[in-house]
Amino acid sequence: MVKNYGLLIDGKWVENKKTLNVLNPFNQKKIASVSIASVAQIKNAIQNSQYAFKKWSRISVKDRSQILKNLFRIVKENKKSLSETITMESGKPISESMVEVDYGASFIEWAAEQSLGSYGKIFESPELDKKMFYIKKPVGVVAAITPWNFPLAMVTRKVAAAIAAGCSVILKPSELTPLTALKFGELSIESGIPSGVFNIINGDAQLIGKLLTESSIVKKITFTGSTKVGKLLMKNSSSTVKNISLELGGNAPFIVFDDANLDEALEGFIAAKFRNAGQTCISANRLFVNEKVFEKFQSMLVNRFKQLRVGNGFDDVDVGPLISNEALEKVESHIKDAAKKGAKLVFGGKRSDAGELFFEPTLVGNVNKQMQIFKKENFGPIIPLVKFKSEKDLIELVNDTEYGLAAYFYTKKTSRIWEIVENLEYGMFGVNSGKISTYLNPFGGLKESGIGREGSLQCLEPFLETKFISWRVND
Ligand code: ADP
Repeated sequence: MVKNYGLLIDGKWVENKKTLNVLNPFNQKKIASVSIASVAQIKNAIQNSQYAFKKWSRISVKDRSQILKNLFRIVKENKKSLSETITMESGKPISESMVEVDYGASFIEWAAEQSLGSYGKIFESPELDKKMFYIKKPVGVVAAITPWNFPLAMVTRKVAAAIAAGCSVILKPSELTPLTALKFGELSIESGIPSGVFNIINGDAQLIGKLLTESSIVKKITFTGSTKVGKLLMKNSSSTVKNISLELGGNAPFIVFDDANLDEALEGFIAAKFRNAGQTCISANRLFVNEKVFEKFQSMLVNRFKQLRVGNGFDDVDVGPLISNEALEKVESHIKDAAKKGAKLVFGGKRSDAGELFFEPTLVGNVNKQMQIFKKENFGPIIPLVKFKSEKDLIELVNDTEYGLAAYFYTKKTSRIWEIVENLEYGMFGVNSGKISTYLNPFGGLKESGIGREGSLQCLEPFLETKFISWRVND
């Protein structure tokens, strides 16, 4: 018998007869079922979050910080079981899941620390009879909607910062990976977070999205996911003029200049491309290599691709399955579209025999910018390879996309580094590095990659309002 998980509303677990199934992407076997929230339960969660907010926002930052530090410790203590749950429901290699737990926990510790340093400002007033200052206050009830590719880290990055700021939160995790979030919910109770401050609802995404965006109690929507859903949430939030943060899709370039250390560039690329089988919004999505080192780097890539181990995330592998059949079909359709438009397969190119939802690590050459594989987020272990000559043409080509999240490049020339950072329209850069994720990173993008930043020194900012006071001293 697989376990049925409930909803976390006002500190209690509520189970329903109507459930959704959670599958292991490696073999498509059902691993658990999760209660689907009814309209009444969603409204109840919103209402209770409002009551909880009133109390939580008045608790001292010192106490809020202490409770979050408890949560950080408990998450670290449960690293093994959380990692296993992540691999079970997302398919990613267990080594990556362990890194995710540390990464996810780091946001909790960081938010706990930042809450102690939250402050307003007092000004030297231009009017002598007045004191002028502003203070920071939590925005109120926050709705957080998260994706499946980092079932823990995308949750903690939002939830810990919101709670540290004094908000209450209703979380809707992805229906594909709700179990990690629900286990995290259990740990949140253990840590001493009061009832109603952190709620988790699952079920019909459209319905939940509608009720959360239309509610005047919910003051903030923080979303990570597709640009399509982000736009919808933005539109639906307009009737109540909600504060909104969006972390959406990317189309990350990975650039190798002729003076790059090619061995380092290769390993950086492998990390930036194959983490979570290419299913992250900052995955390398287009590979640009200077013509002078093109042939050499291409053959290094082919040799390295041959070594990649594809299989069950619980075995010692580098690349796991894709999350769903839909994801697999999208990857396949990008390969077909590229082939039709004249691309050449350099390596891989078809479904892998490792299991139903696997695709081979794939390198595609002879690419042009009309191809889906170049224009769209691939979200899979495939990469178009482009030869470039001049820096000017490269910059134009790299910027020719509606996205602007992460960009990576390898070069030894320091003057070029500054030039590229100035000219590329992206929010985050990996310079001679394929890894940019840390709690210190103001994570987010330009253009249609989103609005706002998460994490970093400003991690509480999206969950705070500013109140300005102009005070005439009259006694
Ligand atoms: P992906 O394509 O990466 O799965 P989605 O944007 O579809 O990205 O999903 C990200 C999150 O958004 C998930 O939790 C999903 O359930 C949720 N979601 C999907 N559609 C809607 C919607 N109409 N309203 C609110 N949330 C939604």
